[in-house]
Amino acid sequence: MEAESETKPPDIEERLSRLEERIDALAQFVTSQHPRKIGRHPEQSKATWKRAAKLQPRLLDLLKEAGDVQDDPSRRSFCANAIWYGNSRDSGMKDNFVQLVGWHACFALSSGATEADEKFIKSREAYAAAYRVIYEALPPCRDCICA
Ligand SMILES: [Zn+2]
Repeated sequence: MEAESETKPPDIEERLSRLEERIDALAQFVTSQHPRKIGRHPEQSKATWKRAAKLQPRLLDLLKEAGDVQDDPSRRSFCANAIWYGNSRDSGMKDNFVQLVGWHACFALSSGATEADEKFIKSREAYAAAYRVIYEALPPCRDCICA
């Protein structure tokens, strides 16, 4: 057994770098769960969205659908997440979304799409970029349980 007295306390630098790793990991997790909260590489994300939308034009239909959603002021509240995720009565937009981009993408891409394009449309990057754009097109939550 190693003598415990030889174990030096981890120095500050090491602890900081470990903390940074954790922050990065957390940021990645948050991006995957809540893309709208993080905009670390907006330019790259824009290019990624454009490529995805070109390969899978149904994403543009979904974007239009999201943009057409209105927060009816005569109602007591509005919940973007109820529209996106759906509820017990209605399916959400996300059900359609996941068929277009990301791991579960299953619709045919535009003609001329290569194997690399197929791989790209299933990537986490394409998913996160498209998710951000479309989700952000919905009106924000108002007086709902998540706002
Ligand atoms: Zn809400």
